[in-house]
Amino acid sequence: MQYKTHALGGITTGLIASHMIIDTLQATPSLPLFLTGASVYASVTVGGVIGSLFPDVDHPNSYMGRRLPFLSRPIQLASKASKDSFLKHRGLFHTLLFVFCLSLGLYALMSYFIDGLMFHVLRFFLIGFFLGNVNHILLDTCTKSGTYLFYPFVKKKISILPVVTGSFGEVVFAGVYLLSMIVIIGGM
Ligand SMILES: [Zn+2]
Repeated sequence: MQYKTHALGGITTGLIASHMIIDTLQATPSLPLFLTGASVYASVTVGGVIGSLFPDVDHPNSYMGRRLPFLSRPIQLASKASKDSFLKHRGLFHTLLFVFCLSLGLYALMSYFIDGLMFHVLRFFLIGFFLGNVNHILLDTCTKSGTYLFYPFVKKKISILPVVTGSFGEVVFAGVYLLSMIVIIGGM
């Protein structure tokens, strides 16, 4: 799928997650006052968009790969040195376990080095980042080439729909995301 469709998926995921988080926060009045709706929406949705683009950092010419060459270049070198398709584009970075471990690792680093208001903002950003990554991987799993979604538990690529990148099928996905966004924003 193209980065624009992934970004739409990230925004939609971020908005839905923010909605659910705000509902939970309202039921927990002991939390700090700065956790207003706007700050939660902003941090979760920005995290969702960045997370929805992140897995393609495993490709140097992708939107994220071009912006983070210090990550995409070493991955490209490793991928060239290996014949294993798991180490190439749509390999390791497109697995649920990797995304889970990456987000957990970032959370551990964040809790160690950051506190106060910034910790809360980044915590919500990280929730969005994790969900955005998951959304990206699920979306790519709907394409013909699929992903190693459940690696290492299932060691072959999984494809649940035969959607081709840039095809009408992708436009349908983008349309569904756009419609959902309008419904969510309209209901705010
Ligand atoms: Zn991808």
